[in-house]
Amino acid sequence: MKARRGELILKSKRELDLIRVAASTVSEILDELELLCVPGATTADLDAAAEAKCRERGVTPAFKGLYGFPACLCVAVNEEVVHGIPSKRKVLKDGDIIGLDFGVVYKGWYGDHARTVGVGEVDPATRTLVEVTRRCLEKAAAACHPGGRLCEIGRAVEELAGEYRFGVVRDFVGHGIGRRLHEDPQVPNYFDPHDRQVLKTGMVLCIEPMINAGTHEVRMLSDDWTAVTADGKRSAHFEHTIAVTDNGPEILSRSGFGAARAVAG
Ligand code: MG
Repeated sequence: MKARRGELILKSKRELDLIRVAASTVSEILDELELLCVPGATTADLDAAAEAKCRERGVTPAFKGLYGFPACLCVAVNEEVVHGIPSKRKVLKDGDIIGLDFGVVYKGWYGDHARTVGVGEVDPATRTLVEVTRRCLEKAAAACHPGGRLCEIGRAVEELAGEYRFGVVRDFVGHGIGRRLHEDPQVPNYFDPHDRQVLKTGMVLCIEPMINAGTHEVRMLSDDWTAVTADGKRSAHFEHTIAVTDNGPEILSRSGFGAARAVAG
């Protein structure tokens, strides 16, 4: 069970059940955090709420302390792409968009999920960016069949984003997940024709397209965490934890199967 680098860890049905509880809990917490994304709220408020909701459900926030990240929740407002640090000074305004990226650990198993939500009234061009990014994830998830190729995931994202001339971020990729937040394989959001990896039943992947309204290029802020678009245009991010099963892809990060229910049941 101990992972060696480059080793793909296939999960049993029982292990998928545990990852489902973790990933579903993330979705349920984000359902509640979405309601708090209103003008005047700070990103620190959202982080504190995320931590409290983990305590209520008996799960552990996955990101805090990982690689030295100082908070529970990764936030990304407007031109921020991923990995923004929540702050009391970052106040949400009407028309902003915010990416909420969150993970928890349940009985040693990880779940990871992200979505981008609007604050108040969001302009139509931004709404299109967010909706297309969500559809990129949906299309990519549909490629997760046993026997399919991993590179089809990136192809699906790139094709749809390309129709809108949006930039597909290449500097950050999706990943396997299980006993650790980041396992092999890496899951790029672009098509790599040299990638011959084949998907197998029992793989669990986090697919997470990051789509920019303009250039795909990003740069890092001086906090060494926050990635922003190189041209200052907006960016959206969605992520699901997805199992490759004999019946096709199963999205594990859906609400309704979380830790509160698992404990009660
Ligand atoms: Mg992830």
